[in-house]
Amino acid sequence: MSLKKYQAKRKFAKTPEPKGKEINKFSSRFVVHKHQASHLHWDFRLELDGVLKSWAIPKEPPVVLGVKRLAVQVEDHPVDYLNFKGVIPVGNYGAGRVEIWDKGKFNLVDRSKNGLSVILSGRRLKGHYILLKPKGSRFGPKAWLFFKLKN
Ligand code: MN
Repeated sequence: MSLKKYQAKRKFAKTPEPKGKEINKFSSRFVVHKHQASHLHWDFRLELDGVLKSWAIPKEPPVVLGVKRLAVQVEDHPVDYLNFKGVIPVGNYGAGRVEIWDKGKFNLVDRSKNGLSVILSGRRLKGHYILLKPKGSRFGPKAWLFFKLKN
């Protein structure tokens, strides 16, 4: 996986976000950023393949069973982004405040072309979660569903 798209969208002289580099060390951390950009959303990021696989979730991520959220896959972010919080200045990509809404470790249960199954151990997100890539979503090819499967 590559950080080229992430880096191409940003001017690192002007934003406090990390430029990042790809790493190969395995560990399994996740973070959820609450991002007050032009539209408030939550960014769910899983450490996989030496980068943070990332999804933008327009509504607060589900902490209970029975709530399904749209999760739009966005460009891979560098692992350094796990600890990023701050304000992306006006005029830059994603301008606005970024807070850490949750973070923790995860265990990968299953991964296929149709989705991911993970056990999350965060402060807010705890339990077995699914990221499912439905066929032919009306929201387009980047649209996934994110929901809690089991407590
Ligand atoms: Mn965002």
